[in-house]
Amino acid sequence: MIMRIGFIGLGQMGHAMAANLVEAGHEVTVWNRSPDKADALVERGATRAATPAEAAQGDVVMTMLADDAALEAVVYGDDGILGAPAVHVSHSTISVALAERLTADQDGAGGYVAAPVFGRPPAAAAAMLFVVAAGRDDLIARCGPALDAISQRVFRVGETPSAANLVKLSGNFMIMAAVEAMAEAMTLAEKGGVEPALLLEVLTGTLFNAPVYKTYGEMLVEQRFTPAGFAAPLGLKDMNLVDTAAGRLRTPMPLLGVVRDHLRAAIAQGGGDVDWSAVGAVVRRNAGL
Ligand code: NAP
Repeated sequence: MIMRIGFIGLGQMGHAMAANLVEAGHEVTVWNRSPDKADALVERGATRAATPAEAAQGDVVMTMLADDAALEAVVYGDDGILGAPAVHVSHSTISVALAERLTADQDGAGGYVAAPVFGRPPAAAAAMLFVVAAGRDDLIARCGPALDAISQRVFRVGETPSAANLVKLSGNFMIMAAVEAMAEAMTLAEKGGVEPALLLEVLTGTLFNAPVYKTYGEMLVEQRFTPAGFAAPLGLKDMNLVDTAAGRLRTPMPLLGVVRDHLRAAIAQGGGDVDWSAVGAVVRRNAGL
């Protein structure tokens, strides 16, 4: 079924997702704060919207923005999408609190679905994201063709949208913890004379045969932290969101403190353009490598 889809936020992830919607034959209208990022999509058949609201007049409007402030600007700002007829499908990694607010504020209009994603830009380009969706069943069903065009699988986690954001934040915490653990183990091995690549081959060939260890393990072995597929400041934003959620739910997360500090150090030492896996560089440096 061909849908009329608005797409707002054409960064590393959003641009690739919007391209797949165009590719799937949907009628796609795009908006980005920096307008030039829409050019390539317009050349491929998308329509350029002059404002976020203009992109939200169809069946669905998907947003993929940096953080809470960016999404708030697009929803509540001048010419924002608040009150627009399209179902708002929110893919950004945002706070649980903002998801709750958007659910309440958009209930009367098109409605709100939380649909954060797992997968880095190459997965977005290959339409191989994992979507974690939560919201009213009828709304999610209506968005089905749009979600199918960007993902390999859509998980449903109930009717409360913010639950999807909690799942996403939990997942990102686990990714960072896995990267930290791998970086520490590789540093130990390297200092003891074992090639990190060999360690990774053994571990991913035995007990750690999972995408997260393979993808990030290779980046750590190659110390390939630029260009960033997921920028460290966005990763730090996520760890801060995890901390806020943990505070609200009175959940001690001591490991979170470690990875968050290492992310801060990675940005302090490497700048804001490094990938969040640059915690590996911090771990090595702390060990004198
Ligand atoms: P990105 O490349 O930095 O893109 C950020 C987007 O947000 C750009 O379109 C940017 O517009 C827009 N933006 C920022 N501030 C804004 C504001 N105040 N008003 C309007 N638009 C604003 O980030 P990304 O890597 O695509 O990530 C997007 C979201 O997906 C984030 O929530 C991230 O945590 C999440 N995520 C990322 C990955 C990943 O691996 N990269 C994976 C899963 C989820 P401009 O072009 O004008 O700057």
